[in-house]
Amino acid sequence: MVFDIDQITRQFAIVRHYESKGRFHYLDNAATAQIPDCVISAMTEHDTRRRSNVRRGIHTLAQEANDAFETARDRVATYLGIQNSDEVIFTGGTTAGINMMALGFGQNLESGDEIVLSQAEHHSNLVPWQMLKQLKGVTLRFLPVDGNGVLDLSRAEEIITPATKLVAVTHASNVTGAITDVAAIGKIARERGAKLLLDGAQMAPHGPLNLPGLGADFYVFSGHKTYGPGGVGILWGRMESLEEMPPAFGGGEMVGHVTFEKTSYAAPPRKFEAGTPPITQAVGLGAALEWLGNHDPQGIRNHLNSLTEQIMAGMAQLNSRHDSRIRILGPSRGERRLPLISFSIGGAHPHDICQIMNDRHGVALRGGHHCAEPLHAIFDLDGTTRASLGMFNRQEDVDALLNGIEDCLNILT
Ligand code: PMP
Repeated sequence: MVFDIDQITRQFAIVRHYESKGRFHYLDNAATAQIPDCVISAMTEHDTRRRSNVRRGIHTLAQEANDAFETARDRVATYLGIQNSDEVIFTGGTTAGINMMALGFGQNLESGDEIVLSQAEHHSNLVPWQMLKQLKGVTLRFLPVDGNGVLDLSRAEEIITPATKLVAVTHASNVTGAITDVAAIGKIARERGAKLLLDGAQMAPHGPLNLPGLGADFYVFSGHKTYGPGGVGILWGRMESLEEMPPAFGGGEMVGHVTFEKTSYAAPPRKFEAGTPPITQAVGLGAALEWLGNHDPQGIRNHLNSLTEQIMAGMAQLNSRHDSRIRILGPSRGERRLPLISFSIGGAHPHDICQIMNDRHGVALRGGHHCAEPLHAIFDLDGTTRASLGMFNRQEDVDALLNGIEDCLNILT
């Protein structure tokens, strides 16, 4: 399992496609990562050989589709370090998973109950809880962030109270790259009798997890950021927590027994998978996580950390020549962070930066508030520009990024 970047890069059809056409420096992986050939093949094979609905038919294709779907669930469980695959629920993505939590877990809550979020949350882990607040009168409380965007836990003992029913925070920020101290939050949540939900959208792509050991009760993430397809994601929950939680959606296949008066529910995961699930996408996600898990996680981390360090060192050098006009959000150089860097250049608009980077340097970045407007407000910014790395990124992508930033510094005042 030696990490070989050329061998990895060659597995992405989109990289091969652009190699013959010229510049392709895709640094928007935190929004959506690219997809390796084996994932596309797994989905094509499924749809050309085994396409059928699951849990319904008794014909051969239906059984094969069902086997493929459940094998995908097993592969997800392996990646997450879970023994019991029935704790893995296929959803439409991170946002869908959190909304399922708000509507399901939220059913058992009442006015006076508290939910603790953090100031670093993506809108997907804020708006559903605001909607629940409207519906149920629950109180939302927020863990603050420090100057680097890291969750500041100094007041956590006071903010997480016996009235707290759920602590729902990001495992790692899509803006600052800061990684949350899950063990510390989990300990306080447990002491108060609250459950812990982690938004793993940004962390899950960075190597296999050990969810039971992490101290969380629920975990959500998206397929399209973990080198898999869009339209699918995962909600994991400890079995006892899933058994206690009412389902958010009702419909076919999530039931035990149905009469005109009432319905009993199936056991998890079926209880939470009403209707036809995203079958082909689940097969693709299973293939993606198996592919990810087959690479040396430390090798991937070393590769991405080294590129991140080069970007930050390069930006520091540019700052010394350009009146420190670049502001980088998030943990400082050398500190633990995800391989993503959000920055601003003086008063330049992030969209102008992205345009120059795209048109003149072939570098794909993301500009705006990255669905974390309140966090940007704390930093007194309307938006930032974000470069986020994936496994297939190489030295030449870093060089193109730094050249492009220097160009922006010269062009934009
Ligand atoms: N949370 C975080 C931290 C994210 O980065 C994202 C995606 N930008 C989401 C939630 C939402 O993910 P999705 O759009 O796939 O539902």
